[in-house]
Amino acid sequence: METSAVLYTAAFIAYGLMDVLGLMPQEISSAGLTLPGLFSKYFGDPSLDFTRYHLRRTTCSVIVHLFLPLVYCIGLSFVCPSLHMFNPRLWSATTLSIWLPSVTVGMIGLSIALYWYTNNWQRHPMTVQLSQLGQPWRRVAGSINAEFLHIDKFVSQLGGSTVIVTDSWIIQCNVHSVNLIHQRDAVLNVAAADEHNFTLDGQSKQYLTINVNSINSKFKSFSIRLNSHQYSQLTDKLQAPIRTARTVLIQQSLSDRFISAFREQVQRNGMYQIPPGSPALEPCVGCLQVLPQVKIQKMCAPVDDGQCRQCFCRPMWCLSCMSKWFAARQDKDRPDSWMSSTAPCPMCRAKFCMLDVFELSL
Ligand SMILES: [Zn+2]
Ligand SMILES: [Zn+2]
Ligand SMILES: [Zn+2]
Repeated sequence: METSAVLYTAAFIAYGLMDVLGLMPQEISSAGLTLPGLFSKYFGDPSLDFTRYHLRRTTCSVIVHLFLPLVYCIGLSFVCPSLHMFNPRLWSATTLSIWLPSVTVGMIGLSIALYWYTNNWQRHPMTVQLSQLGQPWRRVAGSINAEFLHIDKFVSQLGGSTVIVTDSWIIQCNVHSVNLIHQRDAVLNVAAADEHNFTLDGQSKQYLTINVNSINSKFKSFSIRLNSHQYSQLTDKLQAPIRTARTVLIQQSLSDRFISAFREQVQRNGMYQIPPGSPALEPCVGCLQVLPQVKIQKMCAPVDDGQCRQCFCRPMWCLSCMSKWFAARQDKDRPDSWMSSTAPCPMCRAKFCMLDVFELSL
């Protein structure tokens, strides 16, 4: 074989494998130079019709990837004219053994795509899953499309797989397939954690493998992977129960660790008794999800001493929102100073420290 043919084959295999496995470097993917990326304008806008986009995208990936051997053959005929790839009369047994499987695999790809596409996509594996969740499947798809538009959805991309968690759905979009499950049918299990110490920014990273199991035997389970720093964002969005195997120790992000420490300190500070006859509490201004849980009350030093000032605001924040507010106002480069630092009250701007936050006694 000529050197040019060997080089071409090696480059083609490397590019093809990266594309098929979804391992294309970020720079190439974001420039749209992955094979399905080149066709993306035919998929439509995922924010307008999420399901249609993924029906088209997965089908296109299957066709394009199963056509790769044929594309390889055509390329080879230009790189290596001595093989006479386009002249059947001059074909050797080797040439035939390259052409035949390539054409067959391409035809298989085309058949799969046609099988999925005809009959209004009814036979596409994603539609089959949707049909099991309710009929007609377009109604179920409509509910996913609507929730996908919410800006507070959880999204995590790792390699060729994207995990999306909306109010009711857990969705995993892979290169050739989409897995989805309704949160009410799901039980999650953090099965493993693997650490990678050799990253570009010199910090160790931990990745979690989470099994998403269905309590309904009709649906197959699947595994998702994510950076452990996104774990708390994931659990914030989850309604389905999540368990952690006893052997797994999840590394929290710096701000998550701080938020846990903040909570512990507030619990040590004691309680604040709401004066009798106070007006009823309204939901936390930060999240509107729960009733206020904390009151800022200067207790760290005598009234006129120190940096902190008395706050006269009525309780308006939950503990989680207050800890996030406090963490967000700290110097990112000096985490050692956070515990002893102050933040302004979100309403009256009076400075307070961690010793001045009290849980409400209702
Ligand atoms: Zn809140
Ligand atoms: Zn205040
Ligand atoms: Zn204070």
